[in-house]
Amino acid sequence: VVQAQGIHKRFGRLEVLRGIDFEVRPKEVACLIGPSGSGKSTLLRCINHLEKIDAGRLYVDGHLVGYRQRGDKLYELRENEIAEQRRDIGMVFQRFNLFPHMTALENVMEAPVRVRRENKSQARERALELLDRVGLADKERTYPAQLSGGQQQRVAIARALAMRPKLMLFDEPTSALDPELVGDVLGVMRQLASDGMTMVVVTHEMQFAREVADKVMFMDGGVVVEAGTPEEVIGHPAHERTRAFLARVL
Ligand code: ATP
Ligand code: MG
Repeated sequence: VVQAQGIHKRFGRLEVLRGIDFEVRPKEVACLIGPSGSGKSTLLRCINHLEKIDAGRLYVDGHLVGYRQRGDKLYELRENEIAEQRRDIGMVFQRFNLFPHMTALENVMEAPVRVRRENKSQARERALELLDRVGLADKERTYPAQLSGGQQQRVAIARALAMRPKLMLFDEPTSALDPELVGDVLGVMRQLASDGMTMVVVTHEMQFAREVADKVMFMDGGVVVEAGTPEEVIGHPAHERTRAFLARVL
């Protein structure tokens, strides 16, 4: 679903991504781990073209992200074409950014109705199913301010799923939560993974990565230092930098 080849990204003089290659196949869960500032969020944002890459090729579902290729030349897609590409990619951030003036149900229904022009009663029915799937069937009429952080994050996941994405991106979805709320959110993600969703997850939850990931990539200084199965990268890291990082987070 995702293919990254030689991705480079710089902010001014700072080269944040320095040649990243990886592949995420259908139904795979890839976990990105690494110290603060290593480029994890930037890489995730490149995947849905929130950031433009400076070099390399990035494909989602076989399509070049953000560009159209004619011969050897690349042409940037128009805003509406970029938006269309993004519809297939669900993203969940550290902060839940729900619409505060809408109930949980309205938050989940919003994009399908406004963007996909789905009929309201169908969108409503599906939104209720999704709220049920994230364990919040009883919260449909509740506003975000009345939900716990973990509940808000689960609404955010349901909202992303409402667009029927082919790929879900998670950027430290549990790191802003109180410890006792983390488990419910990870539980929903675990279920999503076992239902066959393709996912790229930036996380510091090593236990989750160990149990759920098909592949783990350890990033440091804008490169993938080490990639492999969780057993390889977390269980038996080959690089000193990986070992030093794990010693700090485990
Ligand atoms: P964390 O674990 O703290 O979230 P990260 O691995 O996600 O870190 P990034 O957010 O990708 O790291 O940032 C990588 C580097 O790029 C950092 O040095 C950061 O300051 C820099 N950076 C990120 N976004 C921008 C931006 N829009 N403009 C300039 N520099 C940026
Ligand atoms: Mg980050």
